[in-house]
Amino acid sequence: MKLTILGTGSATPIVERRPSAALLDLGNESILIDCGEGTQFQMLKYKVRFSRLKYVLITHLHGDHYYGLIALINTLNNTGRTEPLILVGPQGLDEILGIQLRYSQAFLNYTLDFRCTNPDKPEEVYANEKISIRTFPLRHRIPCTGFLVAEKPAPRKILAEKLPADFPLPYFKMLKEGLDVTDELSGKTYLNSHYTADPEPPRQLAYCSDTIYDPALVEYVRNSHLMYHESTFTSELEGRAQITFHSTAAQAADIARRAGVRQLIIGHFSSRYKVLDNFLAEARAVFPDTLLAEEGRVYAVPSR
Ligand SMILES: [Zn+2]
Repeated sequence: MKLTILGTGSATPIVERRPSAALLDLGNESILIDCGEGTQFQMLKYKVRFSRLKYVLITHLHGDHYYGLIALINTLNNTGRTEPLILVGPQGLDEILGIQLRYSQAFLNYTLDFRCTNPDKPEEVYANEKISIRTFPLRHRIPCTGFLVAEKPAPRKILAEKLPADFPLPYFKMLKEGLDVTDELSGKTYLNSHYTADPEPPRQLAYCSDTIYDPALVEYVRNSHLMYHESTFTSELEGRAQITFHSTAAQAADIARRAGVRQLIIGHFSSRYKVLDNFLAEARAVFPDTLLAEEGRVYAVPSR
């Protein structure tokens, strides 16, 4: 699991920062979280493979979080995509996209598999054998959710060098599942503990986009390995943060500290800040393992 930050700015555009977007690389597929204006150019610039994109998650319908989506959807179509795109977002997003596509007489060769988020309570919106995607409520000026992307526990690792050459292939699956194996033909028993090792522990990313400081988040994001949390202002503008339903760097760090997350990334900086040193200093005073969001930088989701 690796997170590439594609946008670090907030609503007012400045040349130095792009609006919100982040790409979570899961190996052979990827998840885009938010898709501000120009996100596809950032994907090109930072060499994101469009063909691996399987999910797009939109936190809320303020423009700086999704105005790049219709452009990306069109580009995916133009590049010959036929595989469905799982799109998770607020009520109304499918309607907006439907109107845009209809009036430009664009017909997609792939399906938009839309799943509506619930801004009132946490919910699982997607799961397969490898990952689960859950939402949780954020408190913002319009309905808004955060996302948790969690790996499922991996199968046990087979220690191939310990297995005898004549180990019966059909039993590999049982070993991976943690079972001892008895070969019916030879009567030989293979103890799981001898032939397998613990897999990498599953990791979890928490993504908190626009939100007022909200201690209720602590329970939702608890023990995440990496948390992105917006930090639009520094503490001297805490009043402004409150009025606009945003957070300060210290408040983001406070959520991280209380939730026991492993590492914090702060982003969504207001255009009024030209340098970001104070964000980092302020957050690290509360939660030392904080990093600034930087466009194009790849953050490995740490294990514990
Ligand atoms: Zn917003």
